[in-house]
Amino acid sequence: MRTLLKRLVLLVLALLVVGAGWLGYALGNRPSVDRYQKLAFTQAADNADSLEVTFLGVSTLLLRDGTAAVLVDGFFTRPGLLRTALGKIAPDGARIRAGLALAHIEKLDAVVAAHSHYDHAMDAADVAMNTGAVVVGSTSTANIARGRGLPEDRIVTVEGTRSLEFGDLTVTLIPSRHFPHGKAMGEIGAPLVPPVRALDYLEGGSFSILVERGQRSILVQSSAGFIEGALAGRHADVVYLGVGLLGSKDEAYREAYWRETVATVEARLVVPIHWDDFTRGLDEPLVALPYLLDNLDTSMDFVLSRARREGVDVRWPVLGMTTAPFQEL
Ligand SMILES: [Zn+2]
Repeated sequence: MRTLLKRLVLLVLALLVVGAGWLGYALGNRPSVDRYQKLAFTQAADNADSLEVTFLGVSTLLLRDGTAAVLVDGFFTRPGLLRTALGKIAPDGARIRAGLALAHIEKLDAVVAAHSHYDHAMDAADVAMNTGAVVVGSTSTANIARGRGLPEDRIVTVEGTRSLEFGDLTVTLIPSRHFPHGKAMGEIGAPLVPPVRALDYLEGGSFSILVERGQRSILVQSSAGFIEGALAGRHADVVYLGVGLLGSKDEAYREAYWRETVATVEARLVVPIHWDDFTRGLDEPLVALPYLLDNLDTSMDFVLSRARREGVDVRWPVLGMTTAPFQEL
């Protein structure tokens, strides 16, 4: 009897070791981003009279000209996988300051959250407190900001479509739809005080973000979802196109996503974003999400072939690099 018990315990232990080994392997197995480096942006020339854009992982983007500086999302904490899956998360002050320093950000006019999932909005209020910015976003984003103690006069709640002016930049939030994975949907109905579970950061509605400067414009589509016709009549020269999880959908979905974003606004340049594994800090090189969750190569094969067919350029974003996308047109 005792031998049987011993054998059972050994079997369970062996299964646990094999399971953990498999999970570790599966989570570490991911497409290489090396093949996209040949598409990488070049650094903006000094004193370029243009809108400059700096990519800071996921869909965090700094857009800055001589008159204003706006940060999309401002997500820098990037908590690790175990903590995100099993524990509670909260903004990390040191990582936020390091992220801001990476892009030489001291002052910002606004932090604009595309939606309220943690990988977009969890740090928005802390970034605002560090930079003097207002936080702009949905009611749920406003409740994330309130939970961090950001004063009401620094919170701009947007329902429906709304345009805001910062210096020479016009920032328009247009209701959109999240990638349909169905997780953490719904509204954050009261101030959210971290530490909380990652899934407590409910989506709260998604926005497409259009940034216009003179005759030029950039669309940031952070999540790979869309509302049919929502961008009709809008124009953008450049689209920062969220491709996260796009590789997990079928070709018809990808076609519809392209049509409702890049094709509708008649963009001439596409920059894929939201492809990096955001359970790793910005002090490590950016890598793609594991195959277990997504296949970046599938998304990129689609984006590259679609772009080639329509004469649209594709540039690969480089972490922390100051770029001038309008000068690439
Ligand atoms: Zn999301």
